[in-house]
Amino acid sequence: MPMFVPGPVDVDPEVAAAQTAAMLPHRSAEFEEIFHRAERKARRLFYTQYRVFLTASSGTGFHEAAVRNFVPEGGWVLSCTNGAFGNRWYDVAVTNGKQTEKLEAAWGQPVTPEMVADALKKRHYDIVCVVHNETSTGVMNPVREIAAVVRERSPDTLVCVDAVSSLSGARIEMDAWGLDLVLSSSQKALALPPGLGLGATSDRALARAEQVPHRGWYFDLVRLEKHRIKNSTPATPAIGLIYALDKQLDRIFEEGLENRFARHSAMAARVQQWAMARGFGLFAAEGCRSQTVTTINKPEGLDLADLNAFLLRRGMRIAGGYGPIKPTTFRIGHMGELRVADVEALLAAMDAYLERR
Ligand SMILES: *Cc1c(COP(=O)(O)O)cnc(C)c1O
Repeated sequence: MPMFVPGPVDVDPEVAAAQTAAMLPHRSAEFEEIFHRAERKARRLFYTQYRVFLTASSGTGFHEAAVRNFVPEGGWVLSCTNGAFGNRWYDVAVTNGKQTEKLEAAWGQPVTPEMVADALKKRHYDIVCVVHNETSTGVMNPVREIAAVVRERSPDTLVCVDAVSSLSGARIEMDAWGLDLVLSSSQKALALPPGLGLGATSDRALARAEQVPHRGWYFDLVRLEKHRIKNSTPATPAIGLIYALDKQLDRIFEEGLENRFARHSAMAARVQQWAMARGFGLFAAEGCRSQTVTTINKPEGLDLADLNAFLLRRGMRIAGGYGPIKPTTFRIGHMGELRVADVEALLAAMDAYLERR
């Protein structure tokens, strides 16, 4: 059933089936081989030569890993936010007892490099956290430009990026852009079942972690690295999900990353064009609209539950708004396995619904 929601999304049957292969002991040579292969291939997704930690968690686990591993006692976090997931990362920093400055842009607007440059004047920050694709608002933040400003103004500040709803659906070049941590989840653009966290980590970020006490245990990147170099994890990995990741990465590279980005971009353009042609405003400002999810201003009187019931009878589903913009927006996810033809089918069904009203 095509799920036009921003995760969890539909999983290809072959990928879903990969999970059902026989379990292997995670300390066996056979499993280590698969783990090694999947981790190596995953680096290509992030455009990194470094390493990708694979955790049995959702992506939020790496929000916590970032603040616990890279911020020493007395250190500071600059938490950029323009939506619900930026706010979550801020909360994660605060609830871990970190001194955290919140840098806020209005929902629907991007966090700009100028804002970050300004914030860096106030004090030294150990890390800057920013969400690449703000799934609540449909804004894609200019991570490349933000990272460039941080590198220039505060070279030893680590740049940490949440790419949960964009990885593999939009370009994010970790090494070339100078990013230190890029984290993601399995169930969004990657189109895997939920339960796997991915965290690409630079050498200098890992070196920082070694200097920071009380990193905790489960998301201690130094501990994870000790095991990763032996193609393993400190605790039991999500073995079925590693099988599925291994399979899905083959499918992704078969399509080609460039083609995959272009497909997402074409779906986004089509949804945006449809919404504007119907006179519905787009919530995200022009120039920063997401390739993987579109947040649309809900017209007066449109009952989303009724619309979704109509769509469900046709085997489709869209998403409501998120948090404070729940009453005034709805979202169409266009990521993972979806094609432009699927989007056309959805929009035709939505047109049929709107005409009936
Ligand atoms: C979904 C989402 C998260 C949370 O991911 P989990 O996998 O549920 O931990 C974080 N950030 C963004 C941008 C998201 O879209």
